[in-house]
Amino acid sequence: MKTLLNYINGNWTASASGEYVKVTNPATGEVLGEVTQSTAEEVDQAVQAAVAAQRAWRLVPAPERAEVLYNAAHLLKARKEELAQILTSEMGKVIDEGRGEVQEAIDMAYYMAGEGRRLFGDTVPSELRHKFAMSIRVPVGVAGLITPWNFPIAIASWKSLPALVAGNAVVWKPATETPMIACEFVRIYEEAGLPAGLVNLVHGSGSVVGHAMVAHPGIDLISFTGSNEVGKRINAQAGALLKRTSLEMGGKNAVIVMDDADLELAVDGILWSAFGTSGQRCTACSRVIAHEAVKDALESRLLERMSHLKLGNGLDASVQVGPVINRASRDRIDSYVRVGVEEGAKLLGGGKPAAEGALAEGHFYEPTLFTDVKPDMRIATEEIFGPVVSILPVGSLEEAIAVNNRVEFGLSSAIFTRDINRAYEAMRDLDTGIVYVNAGTSGAEIHLPFGGTKRTGNGHRDSGVASLDVYTEWKSIYIDYSGKLQRAQIDNY
Ligand code: NAP
Ligand code: MG
Repeated sequence: MKTLLNYINGNWTASASGEYVKVTNPATGEVLGEVTQSTAEEVDQAVQAAVAAQRAWRLVPAPERAEVLYNAAHLLKARKEELAQILTSEMGKVIDEGRGEVQEAIDMAYYMAGEGRRLFGDTVPSELRHKFAMSIRVPVGVAGLITPWNFPIAIASWKSLPALVAGNAVVWKPATETPMIACEFVRIYEEAGLPAGLVNLVHGSGSVVGHAMVAHPGIDLISFTGSNEVGKRINAQAGALLKRTSLEMGGKNAVIVMDDADLELAVDGILWSAFGTSGQRCTACSRVIAHEAVKDALESRLLERMSHLKLGNGLDASVQVGPVINRASRDRIDSYVRVGVEEGAKLLGGGKPAAEGALAEGHFYEPTLFTDVKPDMRIATEEIFGPVVSILPVGSLEEAIAVNNRVEFGLSSAIFTRDINRAYEAMRDLDTGIVYVNAGTSGAEIHLPFGGTKRTGNGHRDSGVASLDVYTEWKSIYIDYSGKLQRAQIDNY
């Protein structure tokens, strides 16, 4: 059994609390290790280390900072398989997806290393003679990262890599469910040659460690991904301190299937985005908005394909759907299914925990399909975060877009159509931060901004160059070489 420790100022240490929480495999119930449970005391130690290390790091030329990121990228690549196995064993997603997630961190590391030679600002012509004007990005200081268990290394890479290349230090609290992959990622930074104090890992609960991070005056910004419930709490706490926050939260993503769609392709897209990661993606397809002309055909094809999905331990390469993260999550998913039935939705398939044979040791839920779902039902508006999908029939593209847009979330949406005019109309009018045409709702690439509109986020984006806006301040600089006082807007008019 592994003992998972904090990493503060370059040292692996246990919290003085002496408390530990068990880490388990959600597919088998096997205990994999125990993780130290920190307090505000260790948060303070981590912040002090980060503040001191950042003072020197901000003066290291960005291309030199990037060398550490390139080293990390090479190490991630060399250890891809090992990391994927660890990820799958503690989080549950099937091994192919585990590999894909590690690949996302590799891609992000190379991409952000490249930013070490860019970090572009603007030079603009001054309106005055003998004057030069430009903007540069400067680091914010210490970035506090709070991350969820469902993409434990990808999301940590989206946040820590831009923070570091831009000259910040990091204090990171990973989710309690996934500390093993967090420790491995930090070990990679350590081996990549990152100076001590620049990445500090503090394990513990959100209500203790996360809360203390938001409260700490030495942490200049909080970058959070997780639920709306927690995001709102962080926003309120940070708002009172005027602390910068980047919040990425829930989704209620839909796939629109028009009457001219390639139905087989649409079924592939829906199965992948609804049941991949057992529906526990922020971009999971939770609603299918189906044109009434193809609704029946779509239902029967989906049901047929769902009946062949193999549930089980994600480490077995033939398994297509892994467990959900824990028992509480399984129970919450089940209670949503009961709500759907009570609301009058028609349950076509699934609808209960899967616990036969070996599945009894883990937390599994049957892939579940509802139809004849009304747009205002709770199962059509609230995030379920499990393998449950609802079909909502519509009669036109206009209605499909209106149904997509009426939820409070705005992360991802997709449309299957072979009509280019309809595709462009949808690209213009779907109100989500990410839109797919002829693909499911998941599949983001790291060089475009990732995030959502409305209550999914607060206007910031992870990944892509856009993420640098979270971890840098703009500084505008004017250099007057005229030797006299020149007043802008006055002396030139
Ligand atoms: P969560 O319960 O909100 O937890 C997220 C993180 O916040 C965890 O590290 C958690 O710590 C911590 N936390 C809990 N209470 C806190 C508090 N009072 N102060 C500070 N931090 C606190 O979410 P989750 O269950 O891990 O993840 C699922 C959610 O994440 C879903 O809603 C999903 O849609 C969302 N998500 C969004 C995106 C996106 O980019 N939009 C991506 C992935 C996931 P502990 O759990 O360790 O206590
Ligand atoms: Mg676990």
